[in-house]
Amino acid sequence: SQTTANTSADDPASVMLKVARYEGGPEVFHTLQGEGASVGAPAVFVRLSLCNLHCIWCDTDYTWNWEGTPFVHENDAKAGYQKFRKDDQLIEVDAGSLAREIASYETRRVVITGGEPLLQQEGVVALMDALRAISPEYVFEVETNGTRVPSAEVLERVNQFNVSPKLANSGNKESQRIRSEAFDAFVASGKAWFKFVIAAPEDLDEVRGLVERFGLPVARVMLMPEGRSAEAIDAHRELVIEACLREGFRFADRLHLRLFGA
Ligand code: SF4
Repeated sequence: SQTTANTSADDPASVMLKVARYEGGPEVFHTLQGEGASVGAPAVFVRLSLCNLHCIWCDTDYTWNWEGTPFVHENDAKAGYQKFRKDDQLIEVDAGSLAREIASYETRRVVITGGEPLLQQEGVVALMDALRAISPEYVFEVETNGTRVPSAEVLERVNQFNVSPKLANSGNKESQRIRSEAFDAFVASGKAWFKFVIAAPEDLDEVRGLVERFGLPVARVMLMPEGRSAEAIDAHRELVIEACLREGFRFADRLHLRLFGA
């Protein structure tokens, strides 16, 4: 019988996910984890579509910056820039098929990224269950902007949350980017690392404020110098190193820029 998106409790493998489209299929790729606590680990990435935030410098804006939306991106100022066409950028795939595609790689670490994956929690749970049915060895990381409270089902299955809260420099309203109930849930999970992109001393002040307000564990707070190139990162490096040495934060680099230049 025909199943409808996200309503089939009987067959979780048929739950549909909105996934970023790449070359006509879902965006699934095998690479080294480039950032965060498990940097350097081989992993299969799957990029889900949709985001509830709209960071002006987002480098995966094809997951949300579609024609007909009012969102602002720094690319808007570039000559000839056009927003993406949703139909070109989004594909709906059932959890079972997506799991089989991910499992075609032997690596058993999966990074679920976006966009914002926790906008599709039922789909994320179904995907993890479909993968663990293939192999109980699977380890799951979820990359999130930290604004959505993870469900009990998500909390139970995910091994590591890479929470990347957005600061004022992202251009999002504070009420949208900082959600106390979500911060509290990630801290309580004991599975979260918090990663902040730092470009200026004010960014550090903001991080300190969040650490204090939500009791973020300092040893799990990672500071990443802002920059799209190794040179740009080097420009903010000293500021970040000093803060780490002084206050106990962890320095976070971008491995992909070093290895692959992107
Ligand atoms: Fe992009 Fe992440 Fe910001 Fe969403 S939260 S707009 S995916 S950088």
